[in-house]
Parts: sequence; C-alpha cells; structure tokens
Amino acid sequence: MFEVVIGLEVHTQLNTKTKLFCDCATSFNHKQNSNTCPTCLALPGALPVLNKEVLHKSIMLGTAVDATVNRTSFFDRKSYFYPDSPSAYQITQLYTPVVEHGTLVIDFEDGTDKSIRINRAHIEADAGKNIHDGETSRVDLNRAGTPLLEIVSEPDMRSAEEAILYIKKLHSIVRYLDISDANMQEGSFRVDVNVSIRPKGDEKLYTRVEIKNINSFRFIQKAIEVEVQRQIEAWEDGVYEQEISQETRLYDQVKQETRSMRGKEEAADYRYFPEPDLLKAIITDEMFEKYSKIPELPDEKRARMISEYGMRAYDASVITADLEMAHFFEAMLEEGISAKNAVTWLTVELQGRLNKGGHNITNSPVDAASLGLLVKRIEDKTISNKAAKEVLDHMMENDTDVDTTIDKLGLKQVSDSGAIEKIVDVIIEANPDKVEQYKGGKEKLLGFFVGQVMKASKGSANPQAVNEILKQKLS
Ligand code: ADP
Ligand code: MG
Ligand code: ZN
Repeated sequence: MFEVVIGLEVHTQLNTKTKLFCDCATSFNHKQNSNTCPTCLALPGALPVLNKEVLHKSIMLGTAVDATVNRTSFFDRKSYFYPDSPSAYQITQLYTPVVEHGTLVIDFEDGTDKSIRINRAHIEADAGKNIHDGETSRVDLNRAGTPLLEIVSEPDMRSAEEAILYIKKLHSIVRYLDISDANMQEGSFRVDVNVSIRPKGDEKLYTRVEIKNINSFRFIQKAIEVEVQRQIEAWEDGVYEQEISQETRLYDQVKQETRSMRGKEEAADYRYFPEPDLLKAIITDEMFEKYSKIPELPDEKRARMISEYGMRAYDASVITADLEMAHFFEAMLEEGISAKNAVTWLTVELQGRLNKGGHNITNSPVDAASLGLLVKRIEDKTISNKAAKEVLDHMMENDTDVDTTIDKLGLKQVSDSGAIEKIVDVIIEANPDKVEQYKGGKEKLLGFFVGQVMKASKGSANPQAVNEILKQKLS
C-alpha cells in the first residue's frame, strides 16, 4: 500500500595525484596538516587553479553512464561555516555541472533489469577532518581541497534492494575506470541516502529524509529499512506531518534507528553564487576524444565472458562485479584451464579460505598463476580434486609452489597402468566371492572394488584409470 522512493548521492574521491585547486598531494596517511598550502588553507589572496586530471576523470565517468559531458561547466560557491573548512565556503558546481543526464542499469537476480536515471555528476572540493579526542578537538586539513565527484541519481529506486544494486554497480564502474579507490571504510566512496514513502499509485514526491555517512552495503540496507518503517508508522498513526520533515538523519548501527542530526537547509540557505576566483572549466575536443575512450566496463566484460567462455550468467556476474576478481580470474585462465573449473576454484575454494582467514582477493596468499596451475594439475590428472584441496590448504599457510607442495605431501596420482594393475590383481584375488557376484550380474559391486583399490593405493591412484582396468579385468 506504500511505495518506497529512494534517490542517492554518492561522493567519490577522485584518485588524482594532487588536489583539486592546488598541487598538494592527496594522500592522507601523512602527518597531519602536512599536505597543505596557502590555497587549501584558504589564506587571503591565494587563488585556486583547476587540476585538469579532474576533468579527465569526469569525462570517463560521464561516458560510462551514457551522460552528457558539458564542454563548458562552471564553479559555484556554497557558503557555510564549519571548522574543517577554513574558507567558510565550498567550491562546487550547482548550476552547470560537468556531467548531466545519465543512466545506470541495475540487474536483478532473476535476469531482469531496470534503468536508473542519473541527474548529474559535479565536481567539488572536500573538507578537512575534525578529530575529536576527549575534551579537545583538532582539525586536520590534509583532505581539504581533495577532488570529489558527486554523482546524484533521480529518485528512481523503489526498494533497499534496488538502492544496493545501484550502489554496487556504480562502485564497480568507478573501480573499472580507476578514477577512485572507492574504499567505503576509508571514506573515498560515501553514500547519502534520500528516502520517502508515498501511497502506491501516487505520482507526487513526499518529504524526503537524508541519511548520511553510512559506510557499508549492509548498513545502508538496514538504514533504509528502519527509516521506511519509521515513516510508514508515522503515516499510519496519523502523525506523518508532525514527525516527518526534510532533515538530515544519522543511522545508529547499535540501536538500529535513525536520529535527527540537523534540519535540512534549502539551497537559498547556502547563498550559492558563481565562484569569482575561477575561470569556466573547458573540455577541448582533444581532451574529450582521449578520455571518452574508456576501458571495458563490468557489463561488457560479463557479456564477453558469457559468449567467449560459455559461462553461466550468474558466474559471470560474480566474477565481473569486482575488478580484482575479474583480473584474478583472467590470469588463472592463462594456465590454459577450463573457465568452469577456474570459477569453482576461485569463487568457492579460494574465496572460502580467504574469508575464513580474514583475507581478500588483493592480499591472497595464493596468487592467480598458482591457483591456475593447481587447477591445471587436476585437469592433467597429476592430482585428484580432493588432493588439490589439501594442496591449497597447505599453500594458504606456507609460501610454497604448487608442484613442490604436491611432491612434499605425496599426493601425485598414479596413472601408470602397470602399477594400478598390480593392486587390482591383489584386490581381485582377495575377494573371490564378490568377483563371483559381480560376474553374476551384481554390477553395483564395481564401486566396492574401486574403493578397495583406492584405499590400497592410499588415494594416489587415478580413479578413472582404476575404473577402466577393473572393468576390463572383471569381464
Ligand atoms: P541536496 O544537495 O539538497 O541533497 P540534491 O538535489 O543534490 O539535493 O539531491 C537530492 C537527492 O534526493 C537526489 O538524489 C534525488 O533523487 C533525491 N530525492 C529528491 N526528492 C526525493 C524524494 N521525495 N524521495 C526520495 N529521494 C528524493
Ligand atoms: Mg544531499
Ligand atoms: Zn594545497
């Protein structure tokens, strides 16, 4: 009976070498306030100069989401006071942003998809950081003036699920383009969620609440759910007008509730005006040509994997969602192994072990070439599937290579038919009654013989060879 309406604002910190308007470095794990200069400290008289790299990355994003890239865009001043912003204003793009009118397609698990419109992406400068430490608060301005691209969607999402799909897709695109680290925990990919509800069938937009600073997919999902619940309850209790107002709220992970942070300002409160210290930002034909040639995007990579390797759509989605995962997978294939085995060994065997050990694909103790070689050793029948799991376990803990580990653990399969035949003969001799029954038609007993031979070989015999030799000897 109610419909959920969600619009998202995503701040991506662009991974440029230097800041937006000065040549200070953008890395923040340096000593506090060491990456600063008169411009990003907003000392009187210091003038901003636009970093062109920011335009390059904006062109890439605009191209990736099929948007209009404005060849001329302008900067505006948004006035507000906060200790982490010494200028008492933020330089942003309100009236003519660099990117407008894009779309991003989200894919549902059942194979259907939906287009979400992107209203705009604009360039703006980040603020510094306030560090609260007991009674004292300090300000670190290393981050002040770092370039952000704020990507603003239309209110097109209708559930927490759709919002998460949108954020994951956008995150993946940004990583593929390599325009941002997009690290949510470190704050280089920050999502503000705007949520409202309305009676189903109603076209008008109701009051939106903005939830800020949620730093994981899981908490975003949860925050939306509890906020929607709060609004629905207010409506049903007849207190919607009183309780729901346009404001910024924070999500409390422990209490699982949203709490008012501050009333929402209207644009007029910020006294926006054209930034007088900067020229317009111009994208030349040459610049556009160069940076609109973007690398393969997740959707294209996915389609290619399906057609090139005959992969299942689901597997291809899992592999391509994350650029590191896709690279790892493609590097495994260089060992000449089947895509199907590569998927299993990457997403089930390796991923499972990484999760357990608190690792991820970027710091995996076993690299792609090694995992690929391990799969190759199964495919060329050097070891069994079961033995390969043991090898992988060992390699996760020890810095050794595949073949050395196989030797060390004595897991090499015996495919040499002479050796297997000898064992088969012994087993047949030891079980004359079973041989009789088998020959009398009880073919199920083959499993028993295979088991005995495998056991006698301590698991090292190649089961396929054992099967063939047994059949031959018993007939
Ligand atoms: P502000 O900077 O004031 O937050 P923006 O226009 O930059 O405003 O962002 C507004 C965001 O809120 C957009 O993502 C938009 O889609 C979304 N939005 C606007 N109205 C609603 C609504 N009624 N319900 C949910 N989201 C909304
Ligand atoms: Mg906002
Ligand atoms: Zn500076």
